[in-house]
Amino acid sequence: MGSGHNEAKFKAAILSRSTSNDWDEAKAEWKLYTVYNDPADRFCECDHSPIHQICVILNTKNGQKTDVGNVCVRRFLRLLSNRIFSVIKRIRADISKSLNPKALELFKERGLISHQEEQEYLTYWRKRKNMTEYQRSQKLTINARIIEFLDEEASRLIAMARAHGLKVQQT
Ligand SMILES: [Zn+2]
Repeated sequence: MGSGHNEAKFKAAILSRSTSNDWDEAKAEWKLYTVYNDPADRFCECDHSPIHQICVILNTKNGQKTDVGNVCVRRFLRLLSNRIFSVIKRIRADISKSLNPKALELFKERGLISHQEEQEYLTYWRKRKNMTEYQRSQKLTINARIIEFLDEEASRLIAMARAHGLKVQQT
């Protein structure tokens, strides 16, 4: 069965939603918008199913968004979605863990943290000790804000997927 991820199908689907007809140019139009887990057996753009780690990718030229599997995002678009999934998982398990720079950048772009918060967080994200009270409390506040937002967004996106039959397993 191999990996089950059909590169040709994935590329064709992404190209059809891109501005450019050239794969390398088209690929560069896409960036990671958000990630979430869906317990249902969803379909990727490559037709692989089930996928549970869903990446919402955004085309920066035409504003289109689509839900695809984490495997294809990594393999064919070369976006660092894994780093986002793993850091979110870590923080869910322990809210005092740190977001990484990729996640901070993503959440800043989404307007969830300010530029100043990002810059401050980057000064202590690797620290375990010698953090000020301000830094400790800022980190917990930001982490909690991100998790709360992602939970809310995930339920919204899952409901939307169900409502539109959007690559959710169809019989
Ligand atoms: Zn796929």
